[in-house]
Amino acid sequence: MEVLSRMMIKLEDTANQKSCEEVRRTIYIFCKISGEAINFDKSSVIFSPNTPDFVKNKLKQILDTPCTDKLRRYLGCDVEIDGRSFKSFQPLLDKVQRKILSWKHLSLSQLGRLILINVILVALCSNVLAVFLVPKRITKHINSSLMRYWWKGTAEVKGMCWTKRTALELPKGLGGICLRNIDFYNKAFLVKQAVRIHNSPSLLIFRVMRAAYKYPTETWLPSKRVQFKTQEAISRNGITKVMDLFHSTTKIWNARLIWRKFAPDTAREILSLHIPNDDIDGQFHWMANKNGQATVKSIYNHLVMGKVPSQNMEMSEISWKTLWRSDLLPKWKIFIWKIMNKSLAVKSRLRKRGMKVNVECCFCKEPEENETQLFRDCPISIHTWKASPLGINVQNNQHVDIGNWIKNFLKFFWKEDRHDSPGARTFIVVLWSIWLHRNE
Ligand SMILES: [Zn+2]
Repeated sequence: MEVLSRMMIKLEDTANQKSCEEVRRTIYIFCKISGEAINFDKSSVIFSPNTPDFVKNKLKQILDTPCTDKLRRYLGCDVEIDGRSFKSFQPLLDKVQRKILSWKHLSLSQLGRLILINVILVALCSNVLAVFLVPKRITKHINSSLMRYWWKGTAEVKGMCWTKRTALELPKGLGGICLRNIDFYNKAFLVKQAVRIHNSPSLLIFRVMRAAYKYPTETWLPSKRVQFKTQEAISRNGITKVMDLFHSTTKIWNARLIWRKFAPDTAREILSLHIPNDDIDGQFHWMANKNGQATVKSIYNHLVMGKVPSQNMEMSEISWKTLWRSDLLPKWKIFIWKIMNKSLAVKSRLRKRGMKVNVECCFCKEPEENETQLFRDCPISIHTWKASPLGINVQNNQHVDIGNWIKNFLKFFWKEDRHDSPGARTFIVVLWSIWLHRNE
């Protein structure tokens, strides 16, 4: 492509028969050299609006492509786009919502829906996300469509979402379910592009960007602040690159020069920098990834984690990972996840959300049904636990909060027999059957 664009730049001229023939010939040569082919039926040529029709007709015959007045869509997205206009991105939102609507008849579990969201819906948007900074208004809409679909199997507005988005977006090991955030995905893709451009000085786009924008030269220190000793520009002394601060032809800091030119704090920081042995050009190093590579995944994770400063975790990372890795039924995993995230639709919670419901326990008529009452302290649950193969006497534990109670048992079983522990399975099955019985 680099070659082709150079050839095309050479041809810049007023459009006439000769230059059009030359363009056609150039493309032909390019295709022959590169082995790639251009579909001229799908290509089009744009003339400036004041080109006379007879000239247009003549020239487009030579080029053998249809003529158009504006650039149309490419990979499902308008090419001529005003980055700030959310209207240009409306088709993206519509596409996601249409897809969700087409799944309406599928009766999938929440884990099944999660896969559809994270794999299919995100892929549906990724060609646009990888190129444009999509306006907040659109990404916000898409995010809430995804969240509603996950909770309710539809993207319609009605109904309740029980957990904050930020909690759902966390990695599974940290108590989330890894629901994708389109806004973060968009930014991760673009950062990845920026890093790639930054690290490839041979690309045409690198040179264009470098010419168009002031290149940041003062951010090569971890503190990002370079302070000089004097006002005099150090470039006057022929210092323009970091390597100019080395003793000539070596890779050893010229300490005297550095102390003379920079403020003490900066000088100290420079001298403590590690100089790699390999002869490589200066590159952007992504600190969040051990090998320094800025991958979409690691940038995305960085953004997700940045949103949640300190998560008050119900279970440890190991316990969450064990739960998701176990061979329990997907619906049981989600069920436990909901209890631990306080997002199971028990009656007291429904009332808190403003629903008019009778909140008394349907078994013992205790005035308020909540998780602790329902799953452990209700007489029927006490009997169930005692009669279960685990023979648990819950009356000893009534001061412990239900989240901790479940967590401690699971931790105990998993510690004994790893993630395929029969004890953990039985424990979860008892919880599940109390829930089923209550719903009957
Ligand atoms: Zn009860």
